[in-house]
Amino acid sequence: MADGIVGSLKDAWGVEDDGPDPSKLPGLMELAESWLEEEENDPSDIAHHFETMRNRVVEAHVHRSQAISSGDVTYDPKFVAMVEKNLADMVSVEKALEHFIESSQEGDREECFEALGELEQSIDAMRESGDAIEAFLKNSPPVCMGCGSIGEEHVCPACGAERLILDPNARPEDERKIQVSDEVLDVYTAYAEVLAGKASMNDLVNALQSLEFTYLESEAIGEQTLTNEAATDRIKKTATELVAEIRATLDGIEKMHGVTKSRKIAELTEGWEAILNHTVKSQELLHKLNSQAESL
Ligand SMILES: [Zn+2]
Repeated sequence: MADGIVGSLKDAWGVEDDGPDPSKLPGLMELAESWLEEEENDPSDIAHHFETMRNRVVEAHVHRSQAISSGDVTYDPKFVAMVEKNLADMVSVEKALEHFIESSQEGDREECFEALGELEQSIDAMRESGDAIEAFLKNSPPVCMGCGSIGEEHVCPACGAERLILDPNARPEDERKIQVSDEVLDVYTAYAEVLAGKASMNDLVNALQSLEFTYLESEAIGEQTLTNEAATDRIKKTATELVAEIRATLDGIEKMHGVTKSRKIAELTEGWEAILNHTVKSQELLHKLNSQAESL
């Protein structure tokens, strides 16, 4: 999966309204420039901001290079080259930050300015290569999840895996899946295996169908509760909430089904997240409904 290849540094770009924010790269540049303008300011007083930023960039770098070399997917060579360029740009940013930290500790203002110049250039390069990756993924044709081949067929003729459109905003794995039922877990497993080139969309559709039946049944139970004359207002309120969560889960199932045609990993992920979010809430509400019904 293209997990975190673009997302992890995105929040480092924003510039705050109320003065430079040293936790963002442009803010850090601005802060350092105005700090160095005053002769009596000690450059080492702001070195900790550079250390924090360096640690963040290094972390994003590790995350990104693991994502591209995880071995689950063999990417298109053009795409790999773009990511490698971006990783090299990140190294330049790391070096410029390091240069500033060392120069400030030696009290060498000239070298500090020099480092800021390097930082500005490397930030521009990193942003440019990051934008190129995002643009590539936005216009990307479906890519084979197994071998990275590109072509018209939905199923790769070379290795039999599904071809899907990569998601530029892939999110990290959600650990809440450990709390869900086996049927939901089956959907997750099929989804993850499709992305790893190990299962077909048919496997996923089968898993989605059994989950759909279960949820249609639960929806019927919720609706019956609403029309039951013995139900108190409190129970009806819970049942109404439950039906809404069930319908949202069904929407997520529908969304994942749609990928058979749309081929978009982003929609697969969106659908899965909707199922996970609303299924957790449905379970809580079903539990609540049962205990409310028992106390009647
Ligand atoms: Zn293939």
